[in-house]
Amino acid sequence: MRFSRLLIPTTKETPNDATLASHIYLIRGGFIQSVGGSGLYNFLPLGKKILDKVRAVVKEELDKAGCQEVSLSFVTPAALWEESGRLEKYGKELLRFKDRKNNDFILGPTHEEMMVNMVRQSVKSYKQLPLNLYQINLKFRDEIRPRFGLMRGREFLMKDGYSFHASTEDLQREFALMEETYKKIFTRLGLEFRVVDADSGAIGGSGSKEFMVLADSGEDTIVVCPDCEYGANIEAAVAQSKSYDASTEIKVVTMKALYDEGVTEIVEFVLEESELLEEVKACNSINANDLVDVENPNTVDRRMIDNNLKECTVYENPEYADISAVQEGDACTRCGGALHYSKGIEAGHIFQLGTQYSEPLAANFLDENGKAQPMVMGTYGIGVSRLLAGIIEQNHDDKGCVWTKESAPFDLQIIISNIKDEAQVALGEKLYAAMLEKGVDVLLDERKDRFGAKMKDYELIGVPHAVVIGKKLADGVVEFIIRDGMKKEEVSALAIADLLLERF
Ligand SMILES: [Zn+2]
Repeated sequence: MRFSRLLIPTTKETPNDATLASHIYLIRGGFIQSVGGSGLYNFLPLGKKILDKVRAVVKEELDKAGCQEVSLSFVTPAALWEESGRLEKYGKELLRFKDRKNNDFILGPTHEEMMVNMVRQSVKSYKQLPLNLYQINLKFRDEIRPRFGLMRGREFLMKDGYSFHASTEDLQREFALMEETYKKIFTRLGLEFRVVDADSGAIGGSGSKEFMVLADSGEDTIVVCPDCEYGANIEAAVAQSKSYDASTEIKVVTMKALYDEGVTEIVEFVLEESELLEEVKACNSINANDLVDVENPNTVDRRMIDNNLKECTVYENPEYADISAVQEGDACTRCGGALHYSKGIEAGHIFQLGTQYSEPLAANFLDENGKAQPMVMGTYGIGVSRLLAGIIEQNHDDKGCVWTKESAPFDLQIIISNIKDEAQVALGEKLYAAMLEKGVDVLLDERKDRFGAKMKDYELIGVPHAVVIGKKLADGVVEFIIRDGMKKEEVSALAIADLLLERF
């Protein structure tokens, strides 16, 4: 591709609302463009190209694992969400609208109902199971405060997959396969990540895992062990229990628990003075839907005591649960290592659903005995457009993007310093033609602009390698650059073609 023909509106201006490196550089590098500052983005040619490359990696690995791609209707009839019961529960993030006949529709933030509806019409027997179907399509979530560019936009590209099984054991086999497949995808994209246990409410422990891209700017706190593979979202993290003695200072956190149908309860949570209440764990311990603060309640309906206080409390008929947050330095339950906190960006989530959707939506199959059973389901997501942001959060410097090999918009950029210099142009064109011939994805910067501006664009856009053909060509020398660290190496102009052919 010739730079002079390409739509890359790079800019020095940092967008007003941008704080994250990925947001700043994806806009400044001309990859994406904000649409009216409303959490909606256009993908310009380079952004679209990277999105397609990331999408291709996701698709390749999924297809290798036996998954099948489909494409579901983008607009979802609200009636399907009524069947599953989600239409009522889902808040204002769900975009709802009517058509000309006054029928209700939504734009789906996920597609469990749509996929179940498709499968229940065509799968009737255990002989047709298992199935793993996915799509890579736009989703819409009407975020109250869209922010951080592609990290938390309203419209986003997501891979959502759903598996259907005749038994829980078979779901668990597929779940493990998807974990391995996701690891391959994230590794190929050059990401540093952790697979962490996530809160999965009633389903429990290993039923839900998140793929966290490690980055200081991440919104999620994760607990990781430096000595083994253990990792968990703070909401689901566990540590070896601590035993406090009888003289331990305790504290009581009183909250109002909310249950279905407007039922409430005042609950006291008791824990050691220095511990922090982990609200999701606390909420799960009493099977409540939510906890809210309450001031000076008259009564206490229930009391839940932290497991760490088992040795030293004096309440009658005490109830115990793990309700305290894991702290840095706590001991790993697997290996005893000192746990520490890290920040992560959630870029993937795999979940053992069971029959949560297949029962209400009557997605049944006939088992070997001819008996109708609800299909057992798993669901698997990857935030594809969010991955672009994740890659840049992990791979940038103070000048711009540093794309990884599989995500880079081009493999190589050839920069002609002065296009009025015939020798520079001749060598640039010759290398460009040779690289194209070899099938290397190469960008030739042959614009009339100043050299300084071209280098600034190179650093901002972040193509992994470059050749700079400049003044020193008169002495028979060009420069080869590795974007990661801006490592420069002088190479003989006679040898550069061979060096490139060898490298690419
Ligand atoms: Zn460990």
